[in-house]
Amino acid sequence: VLVRFEKAVIKDFTMNKNKREKEFYSVDVGDSTFTVLKRYQNLRPIGSGAQGIVCSAYDQNLERNVAIKKLSRPFQNQTHAKRAYRELVLMKCVNHKNIIGLLNVFTPQKSLEEFQDVYLVMELMDANLCQVIQMELDHERLSYLLYQMLCGIKHLHAAGIIHRDLKPSNIVVKSDCTLKILDFGLARTAATGLLMTPYVVTRYYRAPEVILGMGYQANVDIWSVGCILAEMVRHKILFPGRDYIDQWNKVIEQLGTPSQDFLMKLNHSVRTYVENRPRYAGYSFEKLFPDVLFPADSDHNKLKASQARDLLSKMLVIDASKRISVDEALQHPYINVWYDPAEVEAPPPKIPDKQLDEREHTVEEWKELIYKEVSEWEEWTRNGVIRGQPSPLVRDEESGMEWDDPLNLPSQSK
Ligand code: AMP
Repeated sequence: VLVRFEKAVIKDFTMNKNKREKEFYSVDVGDSTFTVLKRYQNLRPIGSGAQGIVCSAYDQNLERNVAIKKLSRPFQNQTHAKRAYRELVLMKCVNHKNIIGLLNVFTPQKSLEEFQDVYLVMELMDANLCQVIQMELDHERLSYLLYQMLCGIKHLHAAGIIHRDLKPSNIVVKSDCTLKILDFGLARTAATGLLMTPYVVTRYYRAPEVILGMGYQANVDIWSVGCILAEMVRHKILFPGRDYIDQWNKVIEQLGTPSQDFLMKLNHSVRTYVENRPRYAGYSFEKLFPDVLFPADSDHNKLKASQARDLLSKMLVIDASKRISVDEALQHPYINVWYDPAEVEAPPPKIPDKQLDEREHTVEEWKELIYKEVSEWEEWTRNGVIRGQPSPLVRDEESGMEWDDPLNLPSQSK
């Protein structure tokens, strides 16, 4: 029944192709051409990633600004195809205020044979976290951003998605201090070797168990949050490395050589390498993150600074079995001031494709699978709107506090 239904959807989709042609227009954005539905006007580039360019645009139907990401020939190789397909399937079913919401999906091509590009229309945010890291944030904003990251991560974990590649460029914020995670990280079976793109992959936030090729559990993502918090405090990347080897050196220089029981968990050749590094005692967290890095001008801020440092010391633990869990982090005194069960314990989405991460296909098969996902969306949705929730900071502003633009960002969405 499902196969017949899917065939009907694709047939219907093709029949409408002449009508569809009139619905699109093309506009040059940087080196790329965006061919989008006419409802999307005033396109402006706002970012680029491994998959291509992202634009802001005004959606005349929804009467709001949106972000549009173009995936150019997403089926061109295994790496691109798996990522695009996974992203499409997951974005369609995940619905949480700290994960980017999908508003629309379309392709300007009229048939499977002609199929080339996919456009993902998302909620528009103001900036990515790289831009926020430059700012001097007070404890309230810092802890609220962390809380939201942890809520988003917990929701992904509840759906069985362990990210493993959280980084500031994949986390976006609005000037009202709301935060959303943009992507779903590495598939369990992700090719971590040579990517077939000249795009440089950022690896600074990957946990020791990823760097060293060990097994991992959910708190692999806590390491990344720790690196991000550290960078927000220091305004410098915590463990920058030209490659994994250099990065590992930066980790052990600061945190110290891990204990023997950690080394025993490594496979033989990695253990030999790790054991043969010079031994480092590491530094205390008071030395790594001294008071001067935090706002500590009042007793309240001094307490908050010591709580933030305590949280860092529990997140940046090389041995994952001794590292804080996501649930524990949400209960930590620095974070739990924001705890709202509706946000933390939202029911997890059901992922329809159980083999999502295991799929291996030829380019032609990927093309068909991705085309089918796009066609289904086009058929099933009309104006699916996922509206963001107001920030508690703004809610507080309603009660008299002056936080109309808490992060003071140059806004794309206003
Ligand atoms: P991506 O291709 O998803 O890695 O996105 C690349 C960059 O585009 C991000 O680092 C953001 O700066 C920007 N970006 C992507 N999606 C959005 C969005 N929904 N709202 C605002 N900026 C975005």
